[in-house]
Amino acid sequence: MGQVPADWTPDSWKSKPIKQSPDYPDQAAVAKSLSELRRLPPIVHPREIVRLKEHLRDVARGEAFLLQGGDCAELFDYCEQGAIESKIKLLLQMSLVLIWGADKRVVRIGRMAGQYAKPRSSPMETVDGRQVPSFRGDILNGFHLDERDLDPNRLVRAYHHSSATLNYIRAAISSGIADLHRPLDWGLGHVRDPALKAKYSEAVNFLTDMLRFMHTVGADKTDKLDTVDLFTSHEGLLLDYEQSLTRLLDSPSTSASSSSNTKGHSNKKEYFDTSAHFLWIGDRTRQIDHAHVEFFRGIANPIGIKVGPTTPVTDLLALLRTLNPSREQGKITLITRYGAGRVSSLLPAHIRAVEDSEYARSVVWQCDPMHGNTQSVGLGGIKTRAFSDIFSELQQTLRIHKEQGSYLGGVHLELTGDAVTECLGGSEGLDEDDLSTNYTSFCDPRLNEKQALELAFLIADHYRS
Ligand code: PEP
Ligand code: MN
Repeated sequence: MGQVPADWTPDSWKSKPIKQSPDYPDQAAVAKSLSELRRLPPIVHPREIVRLKEHLRDVARGEAFLLQGGDCAELFDYCEQGAIESKIKLLLQMSLVLIWGADKRVVRIGRMAGQYAKPRSSPMETVDGRQVPSFRGDILNGFHLDERDLDPNRLVRAYHHSSATLNYIRAAISSGIADLHRPLDWGLGHVRDPALKAKYSEAVNFLTDMLRFMHTVGADKTDKLDTVDLFTSHEGLLLDYEQSLTRLLDSPSTSASSSSNTKGHSNKKEYFDTSAHFLWIGDRTRQIDHAHVEFFRGIANPIGIKVGPTTPVTDLLALLRTLNPSREQGKITLITRYGAGRVSSLLPAHIRAVEDSEYARSVVWQCDPMHGNTQSVGLGGIKTRAFSDIFSELQQTLRIHKEQGSYLGGVHLELTGDAVTECLGGSEGLDEDDLSTNYTSFCDPRLNEKQALELAFLIADHYRS
């Protein structure tokens, strides 16, 4: 396990330069919200955080696969039974397909229960010829034009929506939404290509036969199949919020640590950011000497770092040395997002920098094939992504890791369980004219249920062929 760095405090980030930070006009109201947040209980428990870390250690070792997905911007309105259930089910179905394909355990993390803060390229935007503040996520302001001013009350509302969402995730999972004995709806009706349809049907038949067989022989009566772990994550953008939920708590013993006492604690305290199990640092805020890296180097949670075309090779090692000086395996997930056209020229050097250093085999390499592939189409400049570009970046990433002798441990996707029309292509063949049918994202375009499942089938196919 790591240690609290000697020169770190939960607010040491405040002395560093910071990007994407809100300038609230009413500081007294912010102080009131933050003091309320400091009083409220943790949203997640250190024991769960440490359990995820152990799973991620297995991913770093090549023994498991990480599936992470959810909305780009989660709205408070998505804190609702149907939306939560459809996302859990989709992640579960995708993970079954991946288990079948990769023959490995799958670790699931939702971009859920807290993905409320969005970095923006510009603080203002033009809507209907008028300059208005950009939407920065529900924790800061509202999407509707009369709600664009920063509102400090939203900090506390974010906490309550996050905990209500996680409460229902826990309740649904422990009551059997993930109960694999019930038939799942695989809906392959939209797949027109006969060869693809045959491939997907083979997987579905195998999975349903396997589940039925396990039920018959009673092998499904174990905790492993009845309950399915789903961890939560969000971009750790709003440091005032993250700091308020960061607590000095007993460090649960891990299966690897030997010095624990009888209560299962290691007599050691660490700072846990209890807002989520997993936090990541975004592409716009990962400057080595800035506030976000300073904050995240002091907490015990597993951390993601977005890595893209603007990440110098030297920064990558500096980030690992700062955020994971004790070289814990699985502590850092490198979430690579270059775009289909650039991945082959940029990823190999990033892999070599890490794998030829003292951090060899210690990181989780995860591919985010969404953020390097965003394009604007049509007169209105609608943001979209082509399924073919998304799959191409993923396929190239798989190939490059194989060539370099490293392990692609996971995927990071923007998806929803709803039948949205935000990304182009896939077996439904969505084209530009279809985008307006059901485009509901308030930020980046997401894969719909069919496209997300199809991507899982294609990854599975890669492993099996
Ligand atoms: C995101 O994950 O929604 C995001 C903003 O990504 P990135 O930081 O990689 O641009
Ligand atoms: Mn996004």
